[in-house]
Amino acid sequence: MRIARFSIDGNVAFGVVEGDASTEGGPVLDIIKGHPFAEFERSGRKIPLDKVRLLPPVLPNKVVAVGRNYTEHAAELGNELPDAPVIFLKPSTAVIGPGDAIPYPSFSQEVHHEAELAVVIGRMCREVPRERVKDVILGYTCANDVTARDAQKREQQWGRAKGFDGSCPLGPWVETELDPGDLGIMCTVNGEQRQLGSTSDMVRSVEDLIVHITEAMTLLPGDVVLTGTPAGVGPLNVGDEVAVTIEGIGTLTNKVIKRG
Ligand code: MG
Repeated sequence: MRIARFSIDGNVAFGVVEGDASTEGGPVLDIIKGHPFAEFERSGRKIPLDKVRLLPPVLPNKVVAVGRNYTEHAAELGNELPDAPVIFLKPSTAVIGPGDAIPYPSFSQEVHHEAELAVVIGRMCREVPRERVKDVILGYTCANDVTARDAQKREQQWGRAKGFDGSCPLGPWVETELDPGDLGIMCTVNGEQRQLGSTSDMVRSVEDLIVHITEAMTLLPGDVVLTGTPAGVGPLNVGDEVAVTIEGIGTLTNKVIKRG
């Protein structure tokens, strides 16, 4: 099931996406009564997907991310694989939705795309044992861990380099029935392929990461875990259109703009 969050006529709602581009009349949203973090019903009220503005599929309290989780990506930046996962946070204010603009940060001359599988947490949890990880996951979406690479190298902590406004595009929706073990993951810039990998190449699996993170911190419904990026990261410039596509989920597209 694909669950999108959207606005229409000034109201915000969740809806289940039905159909796809091949469906006659195009895909529609069946509006949900309530929200996807509890049992919900579909209202039966349907709206064409192209009549709404999609929003970030969740509003996370925090985004927890992992660095250097694909061997070839660690190598391309001249890094060894870390002994323990490199965990960092992106603030809720970094999150933007599908179609939203990424404002180029004033303190950087080298902003990179990083296509990543994002895990959306469905329930409050801490110290999750491995066998319970699937119970705390609502589903998966696409993410772009947009990074000011020069600031990341220059500054000891990555708070600014990976936490600036607009540095965490998420979407287009949450897919709730998906095995994350072997999904194709791709990034294009202006239609040209930059990154192409598979989630099967992750050093630490989704399960490993959730166990590791929740040893330290409670995750809340709607929190997001970014799982690292495959090789092929590279620059984004003002005017570029960057698209992250993950097999079984869909495509997240954003444009880079000059920060106003
Ligand atoms: Mg990353």
